[in-house]
Amino acid sequence: MKVNEIFKSIQGESTCAGLPCTFIRLTGCNLRCSYCDTQYAYEEGRKLTTREILSEVRELRCPLVEITGGEPLLQEEVYPLMGELLKENYKLLLETNGSLDIGRTSPQVIKIMDIKCPDSGMCARMNWKNLEKLNPKDEIKFVLSSQRDYDWAKSIIREKELDKKVTTVLVSPAFDKKTFAKADDYEVAAGFNLRYKLEPKIVAEWILRDALNVRLQLQLHKYIWKQIV
Ligand code: SF4
Repeated sequence: MKVNEIFKSIQGESTCAGLPCTFIRLTGCNLRCSYCDTQYAYEEGRKLTTREILSEVRELRCPLVEITGGEPLLQEEVYPLMGELLKENYKLLLETNGSLDIGRTSPQVIKIMDIKCPDSGMCARMNWKNLEKLNPKDEIKFVLSSQRDYDWAKSIIREKELDKKVTTVLVSPAFDKKTFAKADDYEVAAGFNLRYKLEPKIVAEWILRDALNVRLQLQLHKYIWKQIV
């Protein structure tokens, strides 16, 4: 299977945010979101067997593992890999972009599934049948680039009663890659929020105004390491 990187870090997103986590980032993605911060994972990677991946994961000594991408479900070998990781009793998270069928994934795997909003440019690629295949402990994530995205996400959450389907619905303001790339350390310290396409404070006010049962999520790893990925 083609693997872009395996590394240990602090989980920056989802309800596991703040926990040490081993990440297995698989190469390749079938989407091209406007705000994508992992373009380097579209092509780059090395071929590894399941056994080699497991060996690297063991060396990192962490009970929480996340398989991410790119889009990890593009590679067939991800299924035996998930099976082996579960056998070794890791708590396993799978980040998936919501466009591919999630039905073959074990219920023991916690899926963090995107629903792509209009300004991602990928909204039409969603596989809506996936909503019937989620388990209560799975998580749904909306990345918001604009007020239009927020209003759209709100209507989908209400119409499809997503907060009853899964324990956690995450809303996450999209990061503005261009302004962040230009920021020096002083700017980062002085006005980090300006680097979002949609200011978190404004999203927080909308959530409270609308009594929306969601979790506002800021990407913790960007605050800790000021990294754009
Ligand atoms: S699904 Fe994820 S990796 Fe793929 S283009 Fe969108 S943001 Fe990038």
